[in-house]
Amino acid sequence: MTDSTDADPASCRHCGEALEDASSRRVVSSIEDGHAVHRQFCDDECLEAWTE
Ligand SMILES: [Zn+2]
Repeated sequence: MTDSTDADPASCRHCGEALEDASSRRVVSSIEDGHAVHRQFCDDECLEAWTE
């Protein structure tokens, strides 16, 4: 069991920084193919810089 998901510490989708203590983090939730997808970012800068 090395591929846990929900239990993993959040990390920024854009830069990969751990978000455990990030108070300014942003979460973007969407539904894709019937599944809830949550993308997390350090802050607005990473959110805006990130492109899929
Ligand atoms: Zn980031």
